[in-house]
Amino acid sequence: MTTPARPANRHHKRPRGEGQWALGYREPLNKNEELKKNDDGLNVRQRIIDIYSKQGFDSIDPADLRGRMRWYGIYTQRRPGIDGGKTAILEPEELDDRYFMMRVRIDGGRLSLAQLRTIADIANLYGRGTADVTDRQNIQLHWIEIESVPDIWERLEAVGLSTTEACGDTPRAFLGCPLAGIDTEEVLDGTPTVLEIRDKYIGDPAYSNLPRKFKTAVSGCPAHCTVHEINDVAFVGVVNDKGEAGYDLWVGGGLSTNPMLAKRLGVFVTPEQASAVWAGVIGIFRDYGYRRLRHRARLKFLVSDWGTEKFRQVLETEYLGHALPDGPAPEPPRNGRRDHVGVFPQKDGNFYVGFAPKVGRLSGDTLHLIADIAERHGSGRVHTTAEQKMVILDVAPDQVDSVVAELEANDLRVNPSTFRRQTMACTGIEFCKLAIVETKGAGANLIDELERRLPDFKQPLTINLNGCPNSCARVQVADIGLKGQLIVNDEGEQVEGYQIHLGGSLGVSSGFGRKVRGLKTTATELPDYVERVVRNFDKQRNEGETFSE
Ligand code: SF4
Repeated sequence: MTTPARPANRHHKRPRGEGQWALGYREPLNKNEELKKNDDGLNVRQRIIDIYSKQGFDSIDPADLRGRMRWYGIYTQRRPGIDGGKTAILEPEELDDRYFMMRVRIDGGRLSLAQLRTIADIANLYGRGTADVTDRQNIQLHWIEIESVPDIWERLEAVGLSTTEACGDTPRAFLGCPLAGIDTEEVLDGTPTVLEIRDKYIGDPAYSNLPRKFKTAVSGCPAHCTVHEINDVAFVGVVNDKGEAGYDLWVGGGLSTNPMLAKRLGVFVTPEQASAVWAGVIGIFRDYGYRRLRHRARLKFLVSDWGTEKFRQVLETEYLGHALPDGPAPEPPRNGRRDHVGVFPQKDGNFYVGFAPKVGRLSGDTLHLIADIAERHGSGRVHTTAEQKMVILDVAPDQVDSVVAELEANDLRVNPSTFRRQTMACTGIEFCKLAIVETKGAGANLIDELERRLPDFKQPLTINLNGCPNSCARVQVADIGLKGQLIVNDEGEQVEGYQIHLGGSLGVSSGFGRKVRGLKTTATELPDYVERVVRNFDKQRNEGETFSE
């Protein structure tokens, strides 16, 4: 039998398209693209109001249930009792609970007391009291029934909040410094830019069918609290050589299974130009982004293939119609910690008080309590941070001690240990259908154990727990990154555990943690493992040396 001859032009065949609209690939190349082409995700809102909320869970079209409802921040949550070993085996409908997770979009982390109380009421009325603050500054609720959704939207919209495009292949909530406008050292106040982009473009069908999610950060924060290095697009406050404050533009960052750091385009963007430039970058993503394979559909792959020079040229010529001037890089971040935990002065003589719930876990009652504490002390604003923390703003000097005492008395720590302050955990198996292991409980227990075992440890050290490789809690940029997976213990049983990434960081020496081959721990042994790593670091480090160094 003869082997068929290979085609002569095997190495010269036309490169396969990646589904870029701008190159003529308008026909859907996978199920997700088909779903979006069949009907825009934004259109599900009316069906939820008119049909699903009235006729109940079973009336929901599967394409809406597992697809378009995300355009309004709504996902089915994981059915309780299904272990992590089944995550990759079961069909999506077998993992679905009849309850939903709902993400409330909080652009720039900005919340008035009325908004905070509204979310607290919704959590208590419809979410069995659940409310977690996420590392994208959102508040996430669970146990939501489809029948409640219209009332929840009415309540949110009455105070200027929404869930529109909180998930899905859309421009998700914008990260912004919670201290914008009040930080004594800020480069500029990014708030007008955040609000302008939100008001112009969120809910706009022109940007509601993207290849995948699109994450934005806008900030003049001297601590770089909005982690611009890992967003699809980031506007970072700088001052140019004429002394004008504006933005340095970064594109193409993202973690997940193929992490990449964002790159500077080297342009200077004035605050007045920012919304048009944002529309240009997201327009490039929509038109040139890869739609064939979901795992190559984030902007970072396009930026990586094109390089920054081509990206800038396309932005300027095809989308803006004018060149942007060169601009400076941002100053290095203010100190080793990017959160805003503690008591610090504001520009206006008042103080802000940042505090640390444990791994972002709050509740409806706790949100009410926080609102009451803020109000009793003359504050009208409580903002969320990108580190699963919160900040009470505008506290008069003579009220600070009392605010701190009340927060501390309710286990909302203003002076937390390093472990409480710098440990984050994603949603994990409790509610997330993609999870392999539990995270929130493991994170809280880890904090308690490390505080007990290492009471004198004071160095900055980030510990991020993730329930799967998706890295919602940034596994690769933590000093100790923990990625959930099933592992075999000494008794030969398959149990929950974590793969360890060591030495990741953002800032002056941004880099991803090393995934040391074979370095894993079971969930049960996690506190022992982390204790050993921390003790070794403490023993071996030189004065001022950080973990990643
Ligand atoms: Fe779910 Fe994985 Fe994200 Fe955790 S990292 S919230 S388990 S998708």
